[in-house]
Amino acid sequence: MRAAVFSGIGKIEVQEVPVPKITNNEILLKVRATNICGTDLRIIKSGHHRIGERETRILGHEVSGEVQEVGSDVEGYTKGMKVAVAPNIGCGKCRYCKIGQLHLCPDYDAFGISLDGGFAEYMRVNSRAIVQGDLVPFKKDISFEEVALAEPLACCYFAYRSVNTMPGDNVLIVGAGPMGVLHLMIQSIAGAGKIMMADISDDRLNLIQKFSPDVVINTEKEDLSEAVLGHTDGAGADVIITACPVPDVQRQSLALAAKGGRINLFGGLPRDKEMVKLNTNLIHYNNLIVTGTTRYAQSDYYKSVKLIEDRKVDTKSIISKRFGITEIKEAFGYAMSGQGLKTLIEFPE
Ligand SMILES: [Zn+2]
Ligand SMILES: [Zn+2]
Repeated sequence: MRAAVFSGIGKIEVQEVPVPKITNNEILLKVRATNICGTDLRIIKSGHHRIGERETRILGHEVSGEVQEVGSDVEGYTKGMKVAVAPNIGCGKCRYCKIGQLHLCPDYDAFGISLDGGFAEYMRVNSRAIVQGDLVPFKKDISFEEVALAEPLACCYFAYRSVNTMPGDNVLIVGAGPMGVLHLMIQSIAGAGKIMMADISDDRLNLIQKFSPDVVINTEKEDLSEAVLGHTDGAGADVIITACPVPDVQRQSLALAAKGGRINLFGGLPRDKEMVKLNTNLIHYNNLIVTGTTRYAQSDYYKSVKLIEDRKVDTKSIISKRFGITEIKEAFGYAMSGQGLKTLIEFPE
């Protein structure tokens, strides 16, 4: 089969590799759609602590496909079944796995990170993933490409739960990338009042106009604080999501929040920039709630697949460009250029 193999910093290339063999309690998936994620770009740029220096890995964790082969001891799955793949696998033994918080498991595995993932024609799904419910069958009339986006959508669903948006709440999302747009989709079905999207790039802000944010703010041209206060009758935003890796945005978010506001620090910061000086009196006197989320609970993934199935969100509309597996270098080049929103690798039937 053809697979895009990552073999160290800066190195990814399409190779002919054997189709994975499965055991009695595993499933072989025929991959149909895998999106490129910012995490993939970061791995190619600087590696990952779960990928050893001499190891190779097939990346890709935003995956959907169809069941190709079912181990004789696996029940409930049949050949041809269409499934979305929740890529994270808990160890099943730690305190977090025991309470169903697999995303906090310190010994987690994940397709496309510690296990081979979806930038390949076939992917082996191990028994732990099957037992934990990582393969989620979906309705026939939605496409592989839209359901592959359940993964990043689940991250935004989890963030939404942490800020608990109430109908009419004014929401500020800083960062108009693909994650920012998925936040916008979740926040609007949650009943957000005014949704303000801020970014430093006019190109990005133009690109996201079709998702109908109420306000767009270019922070290179406009003062973010003035704009947010101006659009909220001087109150500030009830909910703020920092969907960018910028320390200053985290610092500033406290002053942009309305009293009783909830802030989600969604984008992680680069290692050398993680110390941020915050005015904690703003948290204290304004009764703010500051949260952080990463990955998501299984339930967030299931809800995300359901939202896509029920056409409550149109994830397909964030796909900017499609490539075949043999064009992986062009695909990553395009994704790294930051021109579009999501870059998809599609696999023909
Ligand atoms: Zn991702
Ligand atoms: Zn665990």
